[in-house]
Amino acid sequence: MLIGCHLSASKGYLHMAREAASIGANTFQFFTRNPRGGNARPLDLRDTEAFRAFAQEHAFGQILAHAPYTLNGCSADPAIRDFARRTMADDLQRLEATPGNLYNFHPGSHVGQGVETGVQYIADMLNSVLWADMQTTVLLETMAGKGSEVGSSFEELQAIIDHVELSDHLGICLDTCHVHDAGYDIVHDLDGVLTAFDRVIGLDRLKALHINDSKNPRSARKDRHEKLGEGHIGLDAILRITEHPALRHLPMLLETPNELDGYAREIAILKEHHA
Ligand code: FE
Ligand code: FE
Ligand code: ZN
Repeated sequence: MLIGCHLSASKGYLHMAREAASIGANTFQFFTRNPRGGNARPLDLRDTEAFRAFAQEHAFGQILAHAPYTLNGCSADPAIRDFARRTMADDLQRLEATPGNLYNFHPGSHVGQGVETGVQYIADMLNSVLWADMQTTVLLETMAGKGSEVGSSFEELQAIIDHVELSDHLGICLDTCHVHDAGYDIVHDLDGVLTAFDRVIGLDRLKALHINDSKNPRSARKDRHEKLGEGHIGLDAILRITEHPALRHLPMLLETPNELDGYAREIAILKEHHA
């Protein structure tokens, strides 16, 4: 199984990969730069080369680079939209040094302009940063629907994809806490939710999972992650997700409120149930 967690990027790729391996992981997620979207660390090609060798040797799956979550490509403010576009373009260029991996971002918040305008701005941004022979797949993350977040329904995510020219480079990262908070009943009707996903978007677009429990009941639209088994989703439902035939091959990243030892325990639990 491809399993890992969110790690700090401050010491570089090789350090993250070693840290992942030390807790039984074979993938990981990291922020491309600090959450406020400031300058990224200078790209160290010795580090990316050493990482690629380590990842190959240890049979790592695809890793997931996460855009700063404050990046908002559908802000009403053109300067904020432009900042998001330039940040994403820079991230995607840098990720060519570790080709074949995934880049995840939050579609954004339309802040009162309406979903349709939001969808169009997000698609405009993607149309200006994607290129034909890029080596990274860009993932839209399913959102909880907090405030005016775009992307809390499968229909909104597909509407963005529909407006993007080079949509072959796009996929979806499904966050279990977010879809639960958005109202999808993954606890009692996982098959129904996946059927809806397949009908609206297509399961072939699904490229990664964020595995989190939720501090809140379904449809709360809150987005507060909980440790596995300690929230409103529960461990049984989480295990049905990680073992589902349509999902069990995907990279799974924990974003639960844990330090390394807590992540190691959760990874061990998920692996133990993986036949
Ligand atoms: Fe996220
Ligand atoms: Fe997430
Ligand atoms: Zn979240």
